[in-house]
Order: sequence, then structure tokens, then C-alpha cells
Amino acid sequence: MSTSTLDKNSNDTLAQSLAQELRTWIECESPSNDPAAVHRMAQIVVTKARAAGLHVTLSEIGETKLPMIVATNRAPGDTRTGLLLLAHIDSVHPIGTLKTNPCRIEDDKLYGPGAFDMKGGAFLALTALGEFATPNSTKLPVDFLLVPDEEVGSHASRPAIEAHARRARYTLVCEPARPNGGKCVTARKGTGMTKLTVTGRPSHAGMAHEKGRSAIREMAHQIIALEAMTDYARGITVSVGTISGGTVTNTVPSHCEVMVDFRIPDEAAGKEIEARMLSLKPVDPDTTLAIEVELNRPAMVKTPAAQALLDQLIDYADAAGFELIDAPVTGGGSDANFTAALGIPSVDGLGAEGDGAHTLHEYISVSALPRRLQFWRNTLTQLT
Ligand SMILES: [Zn+2]
Repeated sequence: MSTSTLDKNSNDTLAQSLAQELRTWIECESPSNDPAAVHRMAQIVVTKARAAGLHVTLSEIGETKLPMIVATNRAPGDTRTGLLLLAHIDSVHPIGTLKTNPCRIEDDKLYGPGAFDMKGGAFLALTALGEFATPNSTKLPVDFLLVPDEEVGSHASRPAIEAHARRARYTLVCEPARPNGGKCVTARKGTGMTKLTVTGRPSHAGMAHEKGRSAIREMAHQIIALEAMTDYARGITVSVGTISGGTVTNTVPSHCEVMVDFRIPDEAAGKEIEARMLSLKPVDPDTTLAIEVELNRPAMVKTPAAQALLDQLIDYADAAGFELIDAPVTGGGSDANFTAALGIPSVDGLGAEGDGAHTLHEYISVSALPRRLQFWRNTLTQLT
């Protein structure tokens, strides 16, 4: 038996055992809008972290009292700036998704809701940190913050994320690696959300059509104007994602509402889009517009300090047997946007390899689990 075969066999054995434990995470469905479900997921995380000997704090945040976890190997009284790991334990998939998309392994792919985004990444980082639970077994004290609401904008967890980041030398985020090559992320667009409401005038659609002012008709103009703000060359996108309006077919509708997603490459573009949206005027002067614009996540811009951090991570990945490259700027926001905006060197997309985030064919690569785990071990023990 050759050395490489031996290596392959031990890799396979480790990969299978990691996948088996990870299945229990995936089989615990945890949509952000179901506090009881997210609490069940939190208990799995807390149990694993405590069993490994980490110091764990579990708190409840936001109106729905979602669970937030901090697991650390920091010695009591150690106030050094450390390494912040960030993950989220919620997923976008509603309870019951397991029935149509059961957790299973086919070929090298571990399928299931939230497998890729991001139970795989959170699991790997926690498994590695658990091996270094003793204070001072890593060069920097490591604090691992696991939040429950990333998939709905991290509104409740943002203050904690920012407070931890301010005390950190670096932040590493366990969001999935980019598909096709497992690249990491050093730049993300900023994200915003807009709610536009049109109020018209109701009227009988047959007997008094001319007296009505259709909110839906007015909204049609506004949708075209909003989406026309998209500028691919500048990295700006505006997408009307949901629409509702009207009551019955035989009434001219007096109400229509849309929710809009927009993405911006930097703060200046965000301000510009916000101003353009706020200056929208009704085409039909007998209708009125109400517009609320919220810049949610600031853009994550790659800085020289983030590049220097990436250079170190590239070495740790190399020693773990894979090439770490950063992906071009991505449109997807994450909690790394918050930490990077504070000037803390941040690298994201360090989670599991796979594909299909937010879809029913979401999966992670089983055979890549050991090298990704080794990457975290190298990073935790060597980063200074
Ligand atoms: Zn995610």
C-alpha cells in the first residue's frame, strides 16, 4: 500500500466521521424566524463547545429572544486583542425542508438545508477551536461569536458583532467558500433595502373607473424607475423583490407596496442611490409615494491590512493542502461587512466547500472537510 493510499484512507475516515457529526447540525432545522428552532440549534453548539472545554456564554437577543453564543479559549482576565471568529446558526430554510431535501450523502456531497450556508463552516471552526480550548494554546486568544439572525440582516446581533470586532485584531468569517475552487472573500458589496408604498384612490372599476387612481399602475412606473438605477459597470444593482397591492379585481386599487433590494460597491454609491430613491416623484400627481430607504450593510472594501491577513491565511491553507485565493467582489453581504467597516482586517468565505447556498440542492464536499479543518487548526495556532 502506497503512502498516498494510506493518506487517502485516513482522510476518508476523518471525512466520514466529521460528516456524521455535522449531520446532526443539519438535521436540526433553524430558520431565523423560529426562535424555538434556533434555540435547539444553539443547544447543539453549546453542548459541543462545553464538552471541548471552551468557556461558553449563551444570551438572548432581540424581540424574539434569539440565542447568541460566545465560545472562547481566553483566560479569565486576559484582555489582549484577539482573533474573532464569526458564524451564524440560522438558515434561510423553513421547518419541513428536510422532508423535500433530506440530509444525505450522495457520492462526495453532503446535502441538507443549511449544510453549505453555513453549518459546515461553523462546525469546522468550532471543531478546530475545541482542540485548543486550553487558554494560551493559541497565540492569540480566540473568541467565537455565533449569531442567530444573519440571514435576516443581523439587526439584533449587530451591536455584539461590532463590540467584539472592536476588541479584535482580526475577524475571520465562516461563510461558505465560493463555489468552483473554494475561494475566500475579501470584498463584498454593501446592501440596502427599500420599501416603497403608493397610495391612490379607490373606485368601482366599472361604474366609476375615471374617478379611481390606480396605485398599481403608478407602481409600475416606479418599478421601472427603480430598476433603471442598476448600473452593472459600477457594481450597482437594484431589484424589486416583492410586490403586493389591490384588494379585488373590480376595484381600482388604492394601495400597492414593493420591497426592493439594492447593492452598492462603496459608501458614496450607497448615498447616491439613497438620494435618488428618496427623490422619486409620482408620475400621476393624484397618487402619493412613501419611501423608506435603509442602508443595511456597509460595503466591505479590501484594505492593505486585509491583504496582509490573507497572505498569512494563504500559507496556512497551503500547509493544509489547498490553494486559498480570494474571489472578486461578491454581491452577497455578510457580517464581515460590519467588521470590515470598522477597519478590522477581515476575511470571509473560509467555511466549507460546496455549492447551492439558499437552494434545495445546497451541499458541501465531504472529502474537503479534513483539509478545511486542518486550515482552521493552522490558523488558530499560528496567527499572531
Ligand atoms: Zn450565511
